[in-house]
Amino acid sequence: MKHFKLILTVTRITITLLFAANVIFMVKLYNSIKERYIDDVEQCLRRADQIEIVDRIINAGLGDEDNVVRLQLGLQKSDTDGAMGTEELLEKDYSQGYRRVDKQLISIITGYLHDNYADQLGKPNLANMEEAFRRDLSFSGFYPEEIHIIGPEDTFEYGSDLWHISYRINDVLTYNAYISPLTDHILKEMSGVIVTSVLIALVLTAGFWYLLHIINRLRTIEEMKDDFTNNMTHELKTPIAIAYAANDALLQFPDPHDEQRTKKYLTAALEQLSKLTGLVENILAMSMERRKHLTMAKEKINLRPFLASIIEQQKLRADKPCEITLNCAEDTVINADPTHFSNVISNLIDNSIKYSGDTVSITVNADSSVVSVSDNGIGIPPKSLPDIFNKFYRVPHGNRSDVRGYGIGLFYVKSIIDRHGWRIEVESKLGKGSRFTIKFTEQ
Ligand code: ADP
Repeated sequence: MKHFKLILTVTRITITLLFAANVIFMVKLYNSIKERYIDDVEQCLRRADQIEIVDRIINAGLGDEDNVVRLQLGLQKSDTDGAMGTEELLEKDYSQGYRRVDKQLISIITGYLHDNYADQLGKPNLANMEEAFRRDLSFSGFYPEEIHIIGPEDTFEYGSDLWHISYRINDVLTYNAYISPLTDHILKEMSGVIVTSVLIALVLTAGFWYLLHIINRLRTIEEMKDDFTNNMTHELKTPIAIAYAANDALLQFPDPHDEQRTKKYLTAALEQLSKLTGLVENILAMSMERRKHLTMAKEKINLRPFLASIIEQQKLRADKPCEITLNCAEDTVINADPTHFSNVISNLIDNSIKYSGDTVSITVNADSSVVSVSDNGIGIPPKSLPDIFNKFYRVPHGNRSDVRGYGIGLFYVKSIIDRHGWRIEVESKLGKGSRFTIKFTEQ
């Protein structure tokens, strides 16, 4: 996994570029839809102007028969059943009619009216035009809150959030319209694309993240395995060497009269062999095949003498002075596999001794529903707590370099606890100590 950092960087850059490209695409799409909307709004403004000028002509009394006939081009045939009088024309809703006739023709007519009748018609009626504008916008499905139309001579202080649309009629007349942005409409139109892109981005990011997570995990396991092999080789070599030396001494230099010496050497060999058995048991518990078939031969255990015997063995084994207190009522009985449960307690006490200072004080509290092992050791950093039961995991604290281990003790403990259907919890304070609690929930 030498290239892990490179893969990580390339992935990060790729994801960032993908996100940036997506954002740019969205902004472009937004702007193009906005342009289309502004075109539509401009059309509405154009029609509002047409309606306004027609109304002005009629109101000014200029709508004699000829002029009116010309204006009726903007209405549907059904709307104009023959020539209409001024009153009738005013009542009509022109916008519908104008929407359906040739736009260019209407523009030409309106342009003609503006150019030739402006002096006689007076100032544009902006309120009238705004009303027509609002009505026409609503025909297009737009309902902006604010609508303002400003003529060439007026000024308007408008908020920067309003859309500005300007419609130039001729050199002297330009209408400026300001409306509340139609952002909601645009976002609604884009919603399909937005949702799809967000989903794709999420799936892609989650996929990349998962891939990196797996690669990182594999990398850590590989490092842990290397660590494990190094430590384990040493752990296995030491007891073998001691037992070998003790046996060899007895064989090479036998002294049948010195019973004490023989006993001492044989005890040393036995102790080392029992340590080896514990180690091998831990390693075997790790293999998946074996874990699948690992069955617990449960039997009734009288807890107090059981724990007392383990504590005695641990005290003898310890390479530093340690005080182990047992609090357990005489008649406490639990249902457990004696070999594995004994290994579990040995592992916990062994760790309490290993991960502590020069003087060790351990307390084992037990009753029929719970057993806990507390120590005054170096403690476990909070961020390592979730990992300590993982295979090969060792807390990377500096002062631990002298403590030999291979990171499978607690993994074994957890496997056995799970097999019994129990639970194990750990509380720890750095520099103060740790407490491992086994809860016999199935008891
Ligand atoms: P090992 O002791 O072989 O490293 P374990 O699986 O038994 O492996 O423990 C995992 C890690 O948890 C240890 O490396 C140690 O850092 C930490 N640990 C376990 N028990 C204790 C304890 N009682 N006090 C402090 N740290 C502990």
